[in-house]
Amino acid sequence: MKITIDGPVACGKTAVGRALARRIPAKFLDTGMMYRAVTWASIQAGVDPNDNIALANLTKSLDIEILLENGEQVLKVNGSDITDVLRDSEIESNVPKISLVSEVRHELVNQQRAIASTGDIVMVGRDIGTVVIPEADLKIYLDASIQIRAKRRQDEMRRKGCRVDLGKLVEEIKTRDNTDSKRKNSPLISAKDALIINTDRLRIDQVVSLILESIQKS
Ligand code: C5P
Repeated sequence: MKITIDGPVACGKTAVGRALARRIPAKFLDTGMMYRAVTWASIQAGVDPNDNIALANLTKSLDIEILLENGEQVLKVNGSDITDVLRDSEIESNVPKISLVSEVRHELVNQQRAIASTGDIVMVGRDIGTVVIPEADLKIYLDASIQIRAKRRQDEMRRKGCRVDLGKLVEEIKTRDNTDSKRKNSPLISAKDALIINTDRLRIDQVVSLILESIQKS
């Protein structure tokens, strides 16, 4: 069984996907971590974000491993654990630019398809139902209002000891969604046959139940 979950920033994709994968059970892959890893590596290597060839070569040269350790996803690049830096603001603001590059997408999509071919999987991202696994058994598109998504992100950051202004978060999320939705290659868009769930008033376990119900019916 292959299930795709796409949606905008902070709509609950990762939390829902991880919980769903546990229930099925299936593998779980958060593809956003891969785009973040390439962004991190490009900053480390000082690669110009407009140099598509250099970015393509860099992406091909990286050994990206995503492992599950104590129930948490851990990402290693060439053997080094960089999980903790993937959510840094420098990565957050640069990742949509790197994700625009077709050569980067081509390489990561190939890696994602290879992972999907190994068995049951719940894969989350922006283009999973439309581009990466369009033949998936079930496609989900999660959405929520911008205020709710910003509030959830603020709560998440507070739990990690960071204080961020809600208005600033709203603007940052809007900017990232805008770039992801308007790009020509693999924009953030719901697959035509996706089940669309608005998570404004739903807890994670309720969204997971809705998806499990839909699996049972199909
Ligand atoms: O899901 P997350 O917020 O970690 O994704 C970070 C960024 O990676 C997104 O804003 C988007 O630019 C890019 N991305 C993408 N396609 C995916 C997953 C993420 O373009 N399948």
